[in-house]
Amino acid sequence: MLETTPLHMPDDVVEHRSVETLDIGTRESRVLRCAMRALGPDDGRAVVTSDLPTVRLQLLPGPWHASWFASDWGDEFLPRTAPVEAPMTFGVRTGRSSKGIHPWIGLVSAEHGALVVAPAWSGNWTVHIDGDATDGFKLTAGISSWRFHREVSRDVPFSAPAVYLAWGDDLDEAGAALATAVHRWVVPESAWTHTMPVEWNHWWPYEDAEIDAETFVANAVVARDLGLDVATLDAGWFGRPDTETFWERERGDWDRENTARFPGGLVETSRRVHELGLGFGVWIEAEAIGPDAQVRRDLPGIQARRDDDPPGSPLDPNDPGWLGYVCLGSIAGREHVRGVLDRLVARTGARWLKLDFNLDPGAGCSRTDHGHGSGDGLYEHYRGLYGLLDELRTAHPNLLLEACSSGGLRIDLGLLSRVHCAFLSDPDWTEFHLQLLWGAARMLPARAVLHWSESQWRGFHPCQNLDLASLDAPTFDQALRAVMLHRFGVSYRLVDLSAELRRRLAQHLTTYRDEIAPLVRAGAVIRPLTDQPLRQGGGERFPAFQLDGSETKIVAAFRLDGAPEGCTLAPRGLDPAARWRLTLLGPAADPADVPLLEGHTSVELSGAELIEGLRIDPQGQATSWLIRIDAPPPAPRVVPDPEGAPSATSARLAAAGTVSEGKPPP
Ligand SMILES: [Zn+2]
Repeated sequence: MLETTPLHMPDDVVEHRSVETLDIGTRESRVLRCAMRALGPDDGRAVVTSDLPTVRLQLLPGPWHASWFASDWGDEFLPRTAPVEAPMTFGVRTGRSSKGIHPWIGLVSAEHGALVVAPAWSGNWTVHIDGDATDGFKLTAGISSWRFHREVSRDVPFSAPAVYLAWGDDLDEAGAALATAVHRWVVPESAWTHTMPVEWNHWWPYEDAEIDAETFVANAVVARDLGLDVATLDAGWFGRPDTETFWERERGDWDRENTARFPGGLVETSRRVHELGLGFGVWIEAEAIGPDAQVRRDLPGIQARRDDDPPGSPLDPNDPGWLGYVCLGSIAGREHVRGVLDRLVARTGARWLKLDFNLDPGAGCSRTDHGHGSGDGLYEHYRGLYGLLDELRTAHPNLLLEACSSGGLRIDLGLLSRVHCAFLSDPDWTEFHLQLLWGAARMLPARAVLHWSESQWRGFHPCQNLDLASLDAPTFDQALRAVMLHRFGVSYRLVDLSAELRRRLAQHLTTYRDEIAPLVRAGAVIRPLTDQPLRQGGGERFPAFQLDGSETKIVAAFRLDGAPEGCTLAPRGLDPAARWRLTLLGPAADPADVPLLEGHTSVELSGAELIEGLRIDPQGQATSWLIRIDAPPPAPRVVPDPEGAPSATSARLAAAGTVSEGKPPP
């Protein structure tokens, strides 16, 4: 399917490509991580170029069909599809990897199978298709050439962002292969993140306007009683000591705390949370600078600017070249942000950092006094960010790093190789969450996904008006089960939660810890069992997913508005001849809803019976189900080969000269 060759470009830039095959175990699919390093000409001259794709490949001849996900604020993972007709270009120019379209392009051929192309880059990326079906379409992928140029020489080569390629029989297989590889080879983890901590975050019901130290700690007490692990203080804690300030305008003044809301500052608040036995989490938008921030006036030298080509919609009409963020392509900018983060973690003992980014850098910084060129400021910003995150993880191994960007507008495998998980979207009502999950699962393993059950919003959202006082238990169950296949948290006024719902939440947390977290921790991927549900009544109305552990699978099904009476699911990856144990997980689970259970909570069945049809026929009020399927008892042990023979897979890959195991991402 693929042909990659070193290519000599007209301007004498020499591109050296390398490809690693990522071992993903027993799956039939394959995943490659592609890299490229461009050097200048042999005579030592520096040349300027903007066309520096990581991969150039040719698809096998014949028609292909493209699938992708459009994305905007509160509107991530919106499916799109079209026949491939060259020329065809995908990508973003917002300066944020998934604002506009997610960096995941699926290509399907009836004859040749499916290929996923995923540029691992947080800035502007592109996937371009040229040529024709008769000879085979030509595809390039990597950093976007839009308003980007770079001086390249022997002394200063260019390291292109990685691009991941995954293929399988269909897009579902290719996506699952990619997610498996991302678990094994991309997303970092630590002993702490491995515990799958569950958080309460203050944001949606309080925002900044209604949060203060007493409110935060009062909720943290309930969080502790419920069995949550972390209480995360979102925006509202920094900037001028004034209860009327608006977080967005104060961003950047991270060493200045809003002591009107938090009289003892973060030191006191975090101490009180720690005394409860909870981890302390804290939100920061370390790259950003708000218009009213003192740092905007004090440190002009570290700020990204584009005076020669200002953005069409400037953040500040009186200063159109100002981009509103710290350029991490400058040494001083990196030192500033490194200091901010180190001091924040040091004074709070934080175990969770929510790293947000709420602006569009566009083409990025074009200053020439930052150590980068006028055309590669955004590239050097993201290289600087990646380096800082690597340092942060090394310096603070007991810290979970969450990537957030106005929700899910910077979800890419470049950032995901430096943080532990990605937040999917700001809105999170259940139907929409399931739309997001269906898309995100095609790139991310369960442990790299973070989202909250439907949050209680202080502000207005037309689709999200959760009222805890009138919330019925089945709806609450559905919202929680919808986010329990991965990392999750809740954002409610916990202090207002009724005794009944508190009890229910605690029961769900027990199910998560005992039944689900072990699979998430072990690298399970989430396999959709139905078509994608879509917000506002669209798509599949009885969606189901399978958390695909190696020996245990958990099927989750959801009856949304407009759903048929029941649904029949075909769980994946079961040996039809083997016996499997089927168990309905609580709380409030009614075996009458699952005819195969014949009234019991747990039964043993053949794989064939399950594959033929796991039927859900709701008899009561339930609108969500979690069903555990356990592997048959293990076969008798085989005495291991004392020679320690390599696995068939690794032997095959080594023979092909492509195996490269255990390397960190570039
Ligand atoms: Zn700069």
